[in-house]
Amino acid sequence: MHVSDLLAAAQAAPGFMPDDEGLALYEAARGVAVPGPLLEVGSWMGRSALYLAAAARETGRQVVTVDHHRGSEEHQPGWEYHDPSLVDPAVGLIDTLPRFRNTIATAGAEDVVVAVVTRSEVLAPLWSTPLALLFLDGSHTEESARRDQDAWVAKLAVGGTLAIHDVFPDPADGGQAPYGVYRRVLESGDFTELPGVGSMRLLRRER
Ligand code: MG
Repeated sequence: MHVSDLLAAAQAAPGFMPDDEGLALYEAARGVAVPGPLLEVGSWMGRSALYLAAAARETGRQVVTVDHHRGSEEHQPGWEYHDPSLVDPAVGLIDTLPRFRNTIATAGAEDVVVAVVTRSEVLAPLWSTPLALLFLDGSHTEESARRDQDAWVAKLAVGGTLAIHDVFPDPADGGQAPYGVYRRVLESGDFTELPGVGSMRLLRRER
């Protein structure tokens, strides 16, 4: 599919990414000036992967998505975002992989999206290719947000772009774990901030 069709598919896909933030992610990904793949931590049903896929199609890159597809803490039984229809009865666990595959396949993006089904910290030690863009949107507990930061930020190429979703400086607007990642990354002195949209923060690695 063409870029405009991929963007339309992204906007129609299931998920929690607002359109303006998804488009900001797409623009950041298509504008990144260094070689390398785009890598997303946390895929859910593939909505943001399609925004990245549109940029990948346009710039001749690949999108790598990392997700165990068992849902985050807030998706588990008894929690706010639990959807019983997502539970695989054979194993008694959430499984978003079929929905993810459907999203990517119906958008015609299987050639630019490489899905890795595992926990991000399991893939990270196996991964050595410098990333052009890293999108952090995994579990938002303090522990997992720190783990994803520790595992992946160093793999971003100098000149590459770090995108962090769900950054809420005011605790009244949302959990603070992604904001903590954003603060620590900025305080490292290795990044400069690019214009963001909503809760999407964009930073360029300078060294
Ligand atoms: Mg998110």
